Amino acid sequence: MSAPITFDNTYAQLPANFYTRQALQPVTQPTLIKTNLDLAEQLGVDRTWLLSKDAAQVFAGNELLPGADPLAAVYAGFQFGNWNPQLGDGRALLLGEVLSNTGQRFDLQLKGSGPTHYARGGDGRSPLGPVLREYLVSEAMNALGVPTTRALAAVTTGDMVHREQPEPGGVLTRVASSHIRFGSFQYFSGQQDRESLRRLADYTIDRHYPDLRGSERPYLGLLEQIIEQVARLIANWQSLGFIHGVMNTDNMLITGETIDYGPCAFMDTFKQATVYSAIDQQGRYAYQNQPAIAHWNLMTLAQALLPILHDNEDAAIEQAKATLQTFPDRFDDHYNAHSAVKLGLTPSKVSRALFAEFLALLETHELDFTNSFSGLAGRLESNAPLLATDDWQQWMAQWQTALQDNDDKPAARLRMEQANPYVIPRNHLIEHAIQQAYSEERFDQFDALLKAVTNPFDPGLARSRFAQEPAHDEIVKRTFCGT
Ligand code: AMP
Ligand code: MG
Repeated sequence: MSAPITFDNTYAQLPANFYTRQALQPVTQPTLIKTNLDLAEQLGVDRTWLLSKDAAQVFAGNELLPGADPLAAVYAGFQFGNWNPQLGDGRALLLGEVLSNTGQRFDLQLKGSGPTHYARGGDGRSPLGPVLREYLVSEAMNALGVPTTRALAAVTTGDMVHREQPEPGGVLTRVASSHIRFGSFQYFSGQQDRESLRRLADYTIDRHYPDLRGSERPYLGLLEQIIEQVARLIANWQSLGFIHGVMNTDNMLITGETIDYGPCAFMDTFKQATVYSAIDQQGRYAYQNQPAIAHWNLMTLAQALLPILHDNEDAAIEQAKATLQTFPDRFDDHYNAHSAVKLGLTPSKVSRALFAEFLALLETHELDFTNSFSGLAGRLESNAPLLATDDWQQWMAQWQTALQDNDDKPAARLRMEQANPYVIPRNHLIEHAIQQAYSEERFDQFDALLKAVTNPFDPGLARSRFAQEPAHDEIVKRTFCGT
């Protein structure tokens, strides 16, 4: 029989200072909770094997498939604005890379598989809760059309993990275009290791931005591409009311995929200043701050790249500055495109103003972000405001005028239905799924929620419990990293 997964490991061929090879650290009793059959098929994973007992052993980090070359990568990062010169995969293991059926390269990584060289005293493990949360939210993001890492499998380990209380342990198998972070560059820059910095940049260009190969200023081009992808990503987040929660530069991928679903959350009631993460006491990573934080993070990335941008430092700084300055406009373009389509309009000054006023009204009247948008398509003809207040009536009248100036309503409805989901992974439902897993060792709530959040635009779910706002006593106000 051929190997169930065919590995091809280019990161492991980079110099030894990029990572530390790591042996497996088995768990007591691996049990498969979920495998992602669609994703597995795209990755060419053997289906019979996937459903066998062997798969649980592999996804728990108890057994190694032939061809895997497990390693923990090193990186650095600005955490809540503070420089940390060395982080790294403390509880994650890169098994290797696989080529998808479209020839795209993906990392396969175990998260929660035991302490590595970079664990800094941590246990390297993950409670089951964060594993289930990441599975649900990352797969929801993918279904919502947001670039993201994916979940291939989740297992329970049979071991307890000790946090504030003992919790059952879990391991997530994560799939990403790569795990190259802003912090990966920042690590070598911090070491003043220009050679490795250049090596990583070349690797990144080869793997993700091959069109830059042989261009006149490939590293400046790389910075520009990353800025564009991140602008696109953050606009996506804002358009869905998604709050990442830990936008440290070690949690920002250079591909512009969302990574690290720790204390993240989708907003229920809209408020610009919303923060969920219990450790974000200053509100640094509040919803409204995400674009500015992304810009700041890109600035620190540009700084890290300076030594390879130009031999002359002043010239390097000039080029980096000019490129960085493009971020706000790039973000605005993506954001305006999202906001227009959410209102059934084409982007213009008018759509932009209407969107801003809509958000202000949501905040004033403490309305649900997701349901207010998904409810709008039904008001294309009826003209009924969300609330019978003067400000809403005025807004509705302006919106109707804009729609008439624009084009036909069926087209508008179609646009809106493809931009405004009925279902997001709501915090209280995620909590329910985790609670059931903990107290009953059952996963039917998880399964049902996963099914709903991976069909977010299905009108059949509009009246389901998955589309309902939390009852007063169900509202989740705080989320935790769970590390
Ligand atoms: P995060 O904020 O989750 O991105 O984690 C920040 C850093 O802490 C990363 O380098 C992680 O690998 C590391 N880390 C988090 N939790 C653990 C843990 N339980 N054991 C070892 N390292 C950890
Ligand atoms: Mg992280």
